[in-house]
Amino acid sequence: MARYIGPVCRLCRREAMKLFLKGERCYTEKCAIEKRNFPPGQHGKTRKAKLSGYGLQLREKQKVKRIYGVLEDQFRRYFESAERTRGITGETLLQLLERRLDNVIYRMGLSTSRSQARQLVRHGHFLVNGKKVDIPSFSVRQGDVITVLGRSQKNTTIEHAMEEVKGRGIPEWLSFDASSTTGRIVSMPTREQINLPVQEQLIVELYSK
Ligand code: SF4
Repeated sequence: MARYIGPVCRLCRREAMKLFLKGERCYTEKCAIEKRNFPPGQHGKTRKAKLSGYGLQLREKQKVKRIYGVLEDQFRRYFESAERTRGITGETLLQLLERRLDNVIYRMGLSTSRSQARQLVRHGHFLVNGKKVDIPSFSVRQGDVITVLGRSQKNTTIEHAMEEVKGRGIPEWLSFDASSTTGRIVSMPTREQINLPVQEQLIVELYSK
């Protein structure tokens, strides 16, 4: 599956906000947003472009795509699926993205970033309802049980991540028991529980043109 492999801090600087793409580094003073919070590129520091309505909508879409590590075609498919679903399209879009297995692994504190979670899923470290799932975009459902595979429980990346993210908490729609390394999807995430500073309505407006 195609994915962005360029410098990720550049993406945060482009959106002028922390997108938390690099795990632990994002919480330290080494974070590029702490040191150089201006757009990347030769004229990033001096150019003060005022965004048009379209520009604002585009930036909001890019922000969400980058947070979840999804490229354009796949993102559009999520949008189309959200559009076909009853409810508020923007909220459904975020809910679909939030239900991705790589995001759930990250939210449960089994990885320090979504990209690390994606790699762990690809390497087959997790079971969903007792079956191995190695597809990062796998969409979880209410009641699903996620377990770390027996032999992966001593995986240093997972152990390190669990230690590192301790105390950051997990969203109310998930539960996780560290002693058995087992998590559960308690409910589907609501918009209030998806803690993202984005205006999803702008994305709906962009795609509705
Ligand atoms: Fe973004 Fe993290 Fe890089 Fe900071 S360290 S700019 S939050 S990816």
